[in-house]
Amino acid sequence: MDLKRVTRTIKLKFLQLNKAKQQLFEEMTVEATDLANWLLTLPLPERRKLTTSKVQTRLMSALSNQVIRHTTSDAGKKAKSFKRFPPEVNNQNWVLHKVGTTYSVSFPTIKGTKRVPVEVASSHWQPVLEGILNGTIETGSAKIIKHRNKWYVYVCVTEEVPQVDATNTIGCDRGQNNLAVVAPKNGFGKFFSGKKVMHRRRYFQKRRKQLQEAKKFRALKKWDKKERRWMDAVDHTVSRRIVRFAEYLNADVVVEDLEGCRKTMKQSKKQRGDSAQSRHSWSFYSLEMKLDYKLAMLGLKLVKRPAPYTSKSCSTCGTLGIRERHHFNCPHGHYHNADLNAAKNIAQWDGFACSLDLKRDIAAMAMSDSENGLLGAAPNWMKTQSTGIGD
Ligand SMILES: [Zn+2]
Repeated sequence: MDLKRVTRTIKLKFLQLNKAKQQLFEEMTVEATDLANWLLTLPLPERRKLTTSKVQTRLMSALSNQVIRHTTSDAGKKAKSFKRFPPEVNNQNWVLHKVGTTYSVSFPTIKGTKRVPVEVASSHWQPVLEGILNGTIETGSAKIIKHRNKWYVYVCVTEEVPQVDATNTIGCDRGQNNLAVVAPKNGFGKFFSGKKVMHRRRYFQKRRKQLQEAKKFRALKKWDKKERRWMDAVDHTVSRRIVRFAEYLNADVVVEDLEGCRKTMKQSKKQRGDSAQSRHSWSFYSLEMKLDYKLAMLGLKLVKRPAPYTSKSCSTCGTLGIRERHHFNCPHGHYHNADLNAAKNIAQWDGFACSLDLKRDIAAMAMSDSENGLLGAAPNWMKTQSTGIGD
């Protein structure tokens, strides 16, 4: 059976953290940040030559080494400065323990090695922690991070997951009238209504405007964070349900590749102004990332398709039809719910016998889409089209 390595980060909250330990973590963060920023003042070749014995810091070498590594890595070498650089320990220098039912993590600090109990907040993580203890799950580095005044350890874990041969695909259409609609080629789909979400987003927007006008900027920042957390939770829920549906049907999930859409997709001014409706500001990327790793954990795949006109053609016969809000009508008399139609098109893309006269229809679409079309004016539109269909 084929195995695939899936890496993700789990977040464990430190338990019963006294003042002294919080202080200690804070000091470590300051030390790591200072060291990182000092390193950035040196030219890269010089940085590369440095070893832990040659830098001045109170961090133990296991920690300072990670700072050096980061500031010479592809990701970190171009940084200008770090506001906060969380202390990081590589996999050989931190250990997970279990005593009774309590898990704890030990790692080097600036005052020797400390062992701190952690909370298992999510039931998903218990098997992961057990896997780390019995060696079936590989670990990467651990970072000590403060988030909303609480301290956490972020741990990288890599699991080998058996690959499933999906016998089906389901299409996932995101965010026109619904937050997401998933559907197999044939059979019933699932709708994730955007109504409640839109309602709540308008409420967030209204309050934001009030705070802005009152110049309450600190409250505004808090409010933005609150909205982001809520959006994140919605994405988690939606992706979890989509994945459950995919598992049930033993299906890979196909999504439209929205990359570039933000730049090219036209929206009416009214839509853009209404953040509840705006496609620009919903976190499709976040939903996609969550779908991706949740599917990967089950051995299923997320497939991206460049498919710029999924919502324009009929999922029954492939002909261009007319979409009006929730309704889709094709010239051959097929009626579909617009979002479901798009999801079905995405699902059946592989076997889609395209009955379109492409040149003619693309020209027609370009004209009819000038108001509210998908990718209507994208400069590379034709190119996207030809990779998406007919092969
Ligand atoms: Zn039709």
